[in-house]
Amino acid sequence: MTAGSAPGALIAELNEQYDARHRAFEDNFWATKMALQGCSTEALTRTKLDLDAFLSDAGHLKAVEAAISGGAATPGELKVLEIMRKTFETYVVDDARVAELKAQLTAIESELDAKRGSMRLGFEDPEKGFVECSSVRLRTEMRTNPDERIRKAAYEGLQGIGTFVVEDLCRMVKLRNEVARLSGFVDYYDMSVTQAEGFGKQKLFEMMDDLRGRTDGTMHKAREYLAKKSPLGEDALKPWNTGFSLAGETDRKMDPYFPFEDAVAVWGRSFAALRIGYRGATMNLDLLDRKGKYSNGFCHWPVCAYNRVDAEKGDKTWVPSVANFTSLASPTVVGSGNTALTTLLHEGGHAAHFANVVQDSPLFAQERPPFSVALAETQSMFLDSLADDAAWLGRYAKDREGRPVPWDLVEESIRAKHPYAVFDVRAMIAVPYFEKALYELPDAEVTPANVLALAERMEVEVQGGPAGRPLMSVPHILSDEASCYYHGYVLAEMAVRQTRAHFLAQGQIVDNPSIGPALAESYWRAGNSEPFLDLVVNLTGKPLSSDAWADALAVPLEDKVRAEKADYDAAVKTGPYAGPLDVLDMRVRLVHGDETISDSEVDGGFDAACAKFKEWVKAGKYNA
Ligand SMILES: [Zn+2]
Repeated sequence: MTAGSAPGALIAELNEQYDARHRAFEDNFWATKMALQGCSTEALTRTKLDLDAFLSDAGHLKAVEAAISGGAATPGELKVLEIMRKTFETYVVDDARVAELKAQLTAIESELDAKRGSMRLGFEDPEKGFVECSSVRLRTEMRTNPDERIRKAAYEGLQGIGTFVVEDLCRMVKLRNEVARLSGFVDYYDMSVTQAEGFGKQKLFEMMDDLRGRTDGTMHKAREYLAKKSPLGEDALKPWNTGFSLAGETDRKMDPYFPFEDAVAVWGRSFAALRIGYRGATMNLDLLDRKGKYSNGFCHWPVCAYNRVDAEKGDKTWVPSVANFTSLASPTVVGSGNTALTTLLHEGGHAAHFANVVQDSPLFAQERPPFSVALAETQSMFLDSLADDAAWLGRYAKDREGRPVPWDLVEESIRAKHPYAVFDVRAMIAVPYFEKALYELPDAEVTPANVLALAERMEVEVQGGPAGRPLMSVPHILSDEASCYYHGYVLAEMAVRQTRAHFLAQGQIVDNPSIGPALAESYWRAGNSEPFLDLVVNLTGKPLSSDAWADALAVPLEDKVRAEKADYDAAVKTGPYAGPLDVLDMRVRLVHGDETISDSEVDGGFDAACAKFKEWVKAGKYNA
């Protein structure tokens, strides 16, 4: 391709190339992660390199820049070219020293990954000796084991991760900061925020400081309340006891009201009630655990939605998105129905977002950088927040006989969770505060002893005492992709609260048919072409702030119970949405590895596909 080609032809060609390479990589990604027949890790690596080569091609960046400055592009074409420039700029590295540093970082990271995989992780059982296990198990032991000695040992096991990784982390912090300084930023944290969100570290921490300041009092009150309420007294505040003290029986008691085999139908019904449409998307859902399957849920898009514009005639053809998503449910295990449902609301929320990006290039809807993490998570977290509302539970949480979850249980759950919700907020913001301080250390002070001490100090300052999940054990701080990124979740939750408050001021959220169209118009359509903060102002009419979140946490328990009771009563009376499901405008395929369980296009619609899935689960065919 030459820099002199007409803008329309350049756009069409880059769109086609991206679409093809992205699809090839994602098809292989799905095949290997789902362990499908004939999958090939060799093909996966090849197609990944192919996609990376496309994105980091300096020639593409040059051609796009020339087309922008050439003056021949229409306003619509300019908009596409700007997104192309932003995307290629994220991946093209033209400084040789930066390229070298990045190669070093990749090497340290994969070395650390390998070491970490073979690390002897576990806990000292006073009777049985050392028990080797994963960090997931260590956290489960802390939450559920009645023996305090084991809980303490499990906590010490988690702390061991910090000492194990700290030396490599120090090396990475120094290299990452050098990359950032060479690229013109004060440090790596500042670079990461600016690249992902379009505003710098200072602006970010103004918002974070506000949230921190406004939840300080609530946190201290919650700690006192726990020490007073827990049979362990003050000891409940020890890091290995807090989770255990808070883990109640309510989740187990709620379980019968979330039958796994109904989860897909419940998700579809509750999104249809909001009038969320997927613009002709195909959704491939592989929801059950199985041997050889990748052990983490995810949602990826082999095809990003966009308008394909004919370079000569100017006609537009809509290319609907294709989404693949997976969870690891074991239908007979307690909690699997609830987990499946939350996954469907969350990942189905991401999928709705990306299916509704209506622009003239797939680069507006690719979930990779430079897409704002905060914008993406706002959509999924807003939609999965519904399942905590009594207005939703009263309509949709029903047992196998169709009886709604009783109010007593809903109330029990509110009483067990609301007073301590602030702990989650503080645990969430502790990560960005720690990383900010870490990347601000002068190089000479980035030593293992200093970094471990810093993590401990941040836990006390932000969480009120040593944390049940030690900061140094949070995996995000290590990897290139996920480090200095956690604030995305904080901003997203802030936006979720503000969006909820905005809609609630006008009426209900659950089953309100104006919610889907409002989200599609204000949050989804633009893809990554408008800054996250602007989109929040457009929808809610206010700049993003922690007001709504802090207010929600500070609602007195009895007021909360009273309000939710009123919502619950109304919900039970109304019942779930019973209208048509064709508003979803999607093809859903329920698969189990190579097996297609049901397909809405073949089986006669969404309801029919869900019914067939339900029979399949009930027959226990996943064990075959
Ligand atoms: Zn998400």
